[in-house]
Amino acid sequence: MDQMPTSPTQVFTFTRKQSASNKTPRQINRNLVFNLIRTHQAISRADLARVSGLQRSTISLIVEDLIRDRWILEGLTGRLPRGRRPTFLELNHQRAVIAVDIHPSQTTVAVADLGGKIVAQNVVAPPRDPEKAIAPIVAAIRKLIEEHADKSFDGVGISLPGRADPQSKKPIFTPNVSWPVQSLQAKIERATGLRVEMENVANACALSEVWFGDSDGLNDLIVVNVSEGIGTGIFSNGRLLRGANGMAGEFGHVEMEYEGLVCGCGGRGCWETIASNRAGLRYYHEISGRPAPSSFAALIKLVRSNDPLAVQALEKMSVALGRGLRMIASALAPSEIVVVGEITSAWDLFGPAIEAELQKNAFSSVPRLRPSFEGNTSRLRSAVALVMNGLH
Ligand SMILES: [Zn+2]
Repeated sequence: MDQMPTSPTQVFTFTRKQSASNKTPRQINRNLVFNLIRTHQAISRADLARVSGLQRSTISLIVEDLIRDRWILEGLTGRLPRGRRPTFLELNHQRAVIAVDIHPSQTTVAVADLGGKIVAQNVVAPPRDPEKAIAPIVAAIRKLIEEHADKSFDGVGISLPGRADPQSKKPIFTPNVSWPVQSLQAKIERATGLRVEMENVANACALSEVWFGDSDGLNDLIVVNVSEGIGTGIFSNGRLLRGANGMAGEFGHVEMEYEGLVCGCGGRGCWETIASNRAGLRYYHEISGRPAPSSFAALIKLVRSNDPLAVQALEKMSVALGRGLRMIASALAPSEIVVVGEITSAWDLFGPAIEAELQKNAFSSVPRLRPSFEGNTSRLRSAVALVMNGLH
């Protein structure tokens, strides 16, 4: 096999087989082998060959590559009958990533390993003065790095509830964040000296679903992030669809109700005004006449305590969500739609209603619909994928 030059900072890419115009089979296999080690660790070379279906010699070459680049380590030596002693492979747990997940109401800062496992996390509430929002986030990151001095950090991934221009990398559309998020990337870079990748949260989650193998082999996947607003990440023909200015995927701001409620974007009746977490909370207030719970998690708690009005509110939100998913399915014909957000914690109750709306799409095949397997850590894990992919 050819000896490609590699450096310790070499990153993986998401390009899939069918569109692998610039990726060699070796790089694709490397990605596959890394993910098998991640999900099966600790695992021997022989077992890797068995699970992957790749030749033992191919596995050996890729493993040497991954060890040289410090992605994986040789760990324990096993004991087998007849004197063979295989060494087991595992991820290099010395390496880590800082994951930053920005919500309008709070920012979560975490240390994650290369497998996307969250090692430590802290929540930073924004101060009253939006102009002072960045300093506490930067301080929380520095504190985490100091507390994990035994780790070497590969970078910082930020999942953003908005869109950033792929050229300038500056956020250009953050309708639900009230503080000046545009200077965050540069400030973190200056404070830590680390590479900082910032990406729309739904885009990041789409890459993460592919990277971490949950939607392995799919070339047409949509992630719908349902939170304070709604964003979608479109993985189409094996790559992320960005559009001319990085704004592709704003289905949350497609008008679904003529002369509906005013949206954060300035429009009216956008999908997110009827199907986001905020809409669910509003429905509860409208149906019950009581004040809405303080958070969407609290609304789900009411559902779990069999509050019929809370159930009604979320059923209404679910129908609106399904209507929008039908629009997406009609527009893009994905093979799979993955939903990310708190609603997935009540998928047993509301998934069927969402799916029923999606299936009203009469003319094309209905995509598979599922909640993200990672639940509430999806967004943090996506920040890890951003750093590993070296997107930009
Ligand atoms: Zn809007």
